[in-house]
Amino acid sequence: MEEKFYRDSFAEVDLDAIHYNVRQMRGRLPEKTGVYAVVKANGYGHGDIQVARTAIEAGAERLAVALLDEAFRLRKAGITVPILVMGYTRPEDALLAARENITVTVYQKEWIERVKDTGETPLHVHLKIDTGMGRIGVRSEAEMESVLSALRNTENVQLTGVFTHFATADEGDLSHYREQNERLTRLLEYFGESWSGEVDVHTGNSAAGMRFPGHMFQYVRFGIGMYGLYPSGEVKEERPIDLQPAFSLHSTLIHVKKLEEGEAISYGATYRTDPGEWIGTVPFGYADGWIRKLQGMEVLVNGKRCEIVGRICMDQFMVRLDECYPTGTEVVLIGRQEDEEIEMDEVADYVDTINYEIPCLITGRVPRIFKRNNEVISTSHRLQHPLV
Ligand SMILES: *Cc1c(COP(=O)(O)O)cnc(C)c1O
Repeated sequence: MEEKFYRDSFAEVDLDAIHYNVRQMRGRLPEKTGVYAVVKANGYGHGDIQVARTAIEAGAERLAVALLDEAFRLRKAGITVPILVMGYTRPEDALLAARENITVTVYQKEWIERVKDTGETPLHVHLKIDTGMGRIGVRSEAEMESVLSALRNTENVQLTGVFTHFATADEGDLSHYREQNERLTRLLEYFGESWSGEVDVHTGNSAAGMRFPGHMFQYVRFGIGMYGLYPSGEVKEERPIDLQPAFSLHSTLIHVKKLEEGEAISYGATYRTDPGEWIGTVPFGYADGWIRKLQGMEVLVNGKRCEIVGRICMDQFMVRLDECYPTGTEVVLIGRQEDEEIEMDEVADYVDTINYEIPCLITGRVPRIFKRNNEVISTSHRLQHPLV
């Protein structure tokens, strides 16, 4: 798929890295444990369809997303592997999910009672257990039983999985993780006594999968690690598997000028130049996801770190250069240039957040270029093609 765009700013997604990371995770897991490639939120901003296809090629058996809409996009692209919607699906949309063979998450008996009479196609559901994330899921034997009895009374809703989600699997202190596992054991024991059908069990995200591969039941839900990012500083230090970052962000200088002392830069005139400073303009702004808080962050020009000076505008920002560079010179916002590198983690640290959030911030206005074996195999651009 080739979607044309007419600017020199883009995110490059290295699908070889995605492939490598999935292989690394697989290599760490026992034979019996498979991989859900988590491609919610447009593949953490990387491009859902391309990442999904690559992950499947690398051995991921299934896909997981947060929303039904995200699952539909994958089906429309012709992807046929099992897809799980891990978040809430509206009961009125259950029939559509069933028709597209999309598995949805359940945890309320009322929900099951509402979808009871829809259509003939069976709807596959996974039961969510809340063992200490406090988000969605059944929390006790009694709550589990009420969902199970609702399921027993319906023909067209089939329970094929049970899962939970960990809140602290990426931390040094594992006491809450252990407590979640204890609650899980109790609830799974009850489940085993109450329900006779075979189901898949899956519990671990990237952190749990990498750190405790032997405890992962049938599947790991592999998200952040697949993108080559460690779930936390602790896990990065432990480095249970090697990961390669897939995402880099590129732009160019569109204007370069030498200024006298005290010249103002950008809105609010908050930055004033020193005598003879070279200032470059980069056509990338907060509407692309380069939020105003990134003022003062560095970017790479000619393999050197240059500071963003003055406020970041909607579509442009300015950098202080060490010397004169021609218009068209490449600028790297995330990734490698010569011997320098700006990691996703550095950008995240700068704005006091986690690496997960940064690629999600990069908006649909920024084209994604997908590379495999060092060749561009496709490009995507949500601005012009919101649905493909
Ligand atoms: C997002 C998500 C994951 C993936 O987590 P990572 O830390 O990115 O691996 C797994 N399970 C659920 C329920 C999620 O929402």
